[in-house]
Order: sequence, then C-alpha cells, then structure tokens
Amino acid sequence: MSEPLIFELGAPGRTSSYMPDCDVPGRPPEELVPADLLRKRPPEFPEVGEREAAGHFTRLSSLNYGVDTGFYPLGSCTMKYNPKINEYAARLPGFARLHPYQPEDQAQGALRLMYETQGYLAEITGMDQFTLQPAAGAHGEFTGLLMIKAYHDHRGDTGRRKVIVSDSSHGTNPATAALCGLEVLQIRSGRDGTVDMEALGEALGDDTAAVMLTNPNTLGLFEKEILEIAGAVHRAGAMLYCDGANMNAVMGISRPGDMGFDVIHLNLHKTFSTPHGGGGPGSGPVGVKSHLAPFLPSPVVRLNPDSGIYFFDYDRPLSIGKVRAFYGNFGVVVRAYAYIRAVGGEGLREASENAVINANYLLSLLKGKYRVPFDRHCMHEFVVAPPAGFRESGLHTVDIAKRLMDYGYHPPTVYFPLIVEEALMVEPTETESKATLDDFARAMLEIAREGLESPGLLRDAPVSTPVSRLDEVSAARRPRLRWQPPGAAE
Ligand SMILES: *Cc1c(COP(=O)(O)O)cnc(C)c1O
Repeated sequence: MSEPLIFELGAPGRTSSYMPDCDVPGRPPEELVPADLLRKRPPEFPEVGEREAAGHFTRLSSLNYGVDTGFYPLGSCTMKYNPKINEYAARLPGFARLHPYQPEDQAQGALRLMYETQGYLAEITGMDQFTLQPAAGAHGEFTGLLMIKAYHDHRGDTGRRKVIVSDSSHGTNPATAALCGLEVLQIRSGRDGTVDMEALGEALGDDTAAVMLTNPNTLGLFEKEILEIAGAVHRAGAMLYCDGANMNAVMGISRPGDMGFDVIHLNLHKTFSTPHGGGGPGSGPVGVKSHLAPFLPSPVVRLNPDSGIYFFDYDRPLSIGKVRAFYGNFGVVVRAYAYIRAVGGEGLREASENAVINANYLLSLLKGKYRVPFDRHCMHEFVVAPPAGFRESGLHTVDIAKRLMDYGYHPPTVYFPLIVEEALMVEPTETESKATLDDFARAMLEIAREGLESPGLLRDAPVSTPVSRLDEVSAARRPRLRWQPPGAAE
C-alpha cells in the first residue's frame, strides 16, 4: 500500500485530544489506583493530530467495496441495494432508543411492528407462525432443528437422530445438524442438479428427524419434484426443513408452506434488504406450521384481540426456550418491515421476477464462453465454470475472481456449491440495471479472452487494489488485527 499507516504519520508530541484536568478533589489519580495495576511504561500510541487521524480513517473508508458503491454479484448472498428509507426508519428515535426493558405499555408501536412483521413473513412463506429471535440464518437453522427435535421427543418418537442434507446444501446445514447433536447424512444430487428421489428414498427411515433443503437450491435450480419429496419425507415421519436464506426468486410467486415444508428460516439481511457483510447484524426469523408452533422460542409477540394491546407471551410450556437475549435484532426487523410496506405484495413479486430475469439475462451473455454445468433456466442465481482452455493454461476460478477486481467488480462466490468443480456462482439480484449487467458481462468475456491470450494478466491480478494476492491461510489462521509497536511480541 502506498498510503502510510497512521502510526507512521505521527511524531512525538502531536495530539488531537483535549482532556480537561482532573477535577476530583483529594489525591491525584495515580495514587487512587493500586500501584500494581499501573502501567510500567506509557502505551505506545501513535501521536497524530486530528487532521491526520481524520484523513487516515476517511481514506480507509473509501477502500471499502460495498453494495452502495458497485455491483456485488455474490451468489447465495443476495447482495442487493438496500433502500435508504429503511435506514431512516430504523434510526427513528422511537425505535432506535427504545430500551429492551421498556414496559410493554410504552412500547406498543415496536410490539405492533414485530407482530405485523411476523404476519407478513407468514403470509409470504405460507407458514402459520414466526419467531423473530434468531440473529442469523445459521442461528435460524439451529432454532428450527431444536424445535423439530422437541416435536419428535414430545411425541415419544425419540429414535430420530439423523438429518438428511443435499450435497449442494449450504455448509451451515450439516454444521447446524451436528451442533444439535444429530447425525448428518448427505445425499447426492441427480444429474440435473436437483434432489435424486432414489437417493432420498434410500436415506429416509424411522431414524430420520428432518430433511433440509433449499428451494430453489444453491445451483439456482427449482426442485420441481418438491411435492413428491415432501410426501416421501412425511410418510417416513420426518419433518421437511426449508433453508429459506435466499427467497429472492420466489417471493409472491410460490410459498414453501404450500410446497409441504414444516419449518423455514429467512435471512432478513439478504432477501429483505438489510445490508450485510463484515459480520454486521443479521436476522434469521423462523416460521413453522401449526404443529410445531408450541415449540417456538419464548416469548412470542401476540395481540389481545379484545383490548387491542400487544404483549410478549411467556406462557409457553413446550417452548424450546430463548435462543437470544431479548427479542432478536430489532433494527433489522424494522428495515424489513419498512421494505415490505414500501414495496407491497406486488412489489415483492416484481422484485423476484426481476431477480430471475436479471440472472437469466446475464447467464445468456456468458453462456457461449463460460461452461454451464446445468444448462437450464436458472432462478435468482446460476453457476458457471471457467472457459475451455483455462485449465491447460494453469488458470483457475480464483484467477477470474481476482481479475474482476481490476475491472471494478466484487468477485462472485467461488468454489461453492461444492458439487461443481471450479464453480463461479453469480447472483445479480433485481436491483441492478441492464447497463450494469452488460458491463459486467463485457468484463467477464474480456477476462475469458485475456486468459487464453495472456494468462499472466490473470495470474498477477489484482493489480489495481491496495494489496494484491494475500496469503489467505495465514490471514485466516494468524490474523493481525491491530497495529503493534515495533519490537512488540506478537
Ligand atoms: C447465507 C446462507 C445461509 C447462512 O446464513 P447466515 O446469516 O450467514 O448464517 C444459509 N443457507 C443459505 C442457502 C445461505 O445462502
């Protein structure tokens, strides 16, 4: 990086703090603190003026790539533009400054918003009841499987300890099942990329607790046999779990509840327009059919129809208990509520339709050059593999991803789903214009040409970013997250 680090800008004696003198009467502060707790030497903070500090952090912020700055085709993540009206709503002081212990009679607006959001999500998914507690998609899966376990156990059906997942499933599915103390059974996909009914039939048994599926699946393909799948799962006495992290292809068109799913989690931070990434707050509400409702986390928000008063219902003897402090990430729920209310049912349907059209349009532009493992109409996302000839030049998907950064794009998801070798998974979402899709396709086609004519361009990419290729293993295993003064122990 050419920019100097803030710590290297400093000079002894420079400062940007204006601390008042201690005005506590009596002994000086250093005498109030026990001697063994005092620092032996002063902290080695950089000494910089406010001007340098402001410049440093502003420059850093401009290095971020985000959905507000450019196209972010990160498959399975639904990185869509998030309307600013949602941010406005979430920042309204009546929501943002509400204390979680505020008495219910002083928080009726917030309770109503939660109650109505539960209802909207139930309507969109075809489920009977929702909880807003889980803080992310994986957390929603955890909540859903705990409820399924409680359901079987409550019926005395205690031998169900296996969870069937597809080999195209998101990694969180098997991880969640394992975390719940259940055994994971992975079934292969059929040649067309969807569930192989035969493999499913062989795996199902009276030890199956649940089958976890994503529809459309992570290849962006709709499971056309979903009704037969649901029938087979229920005949075996198991529950069908929908990983609904990504509902962007089906909102207002088809409903998992009507397909026979018993439980679903949604990612409000994907489909319902809350910005995400960088580990920011998420929300993974879980919806269930009525036979699982008694097991929902406590409390649930309810409305007393006689008084018109909203309240938290803690009187739930079969509940799996709380899965999170207080009531979930309320600010994310406010954004989803604002989004749903702003666009309405028709708007949600239109969003899905445009997401699917955008994905198919982009796929059609790339098809001639990039290999398409499952050549069908896609839903909200699709998977391609590098052009023919790349392997011979020693080029891989990662090189395409890195080169895209030089063209000003966030790379797509790479090497997922696992069943496609060298996968490149693209999800344009509905918020991008045709011009953006055309430009992105041009960049992808240009990279395909570069790879064949001058593969070094891809191998050395990115060349336009502050740092180029990183040692990703060390970055993950031995992250250096803060500056250390020279000579300090790691
Ligand atoms: C993103 C995603 C998840 C996990 O959601 P988190 O909020 O990251 O925990 C699960 N399944 C699918 C299909 C996803 O795309």
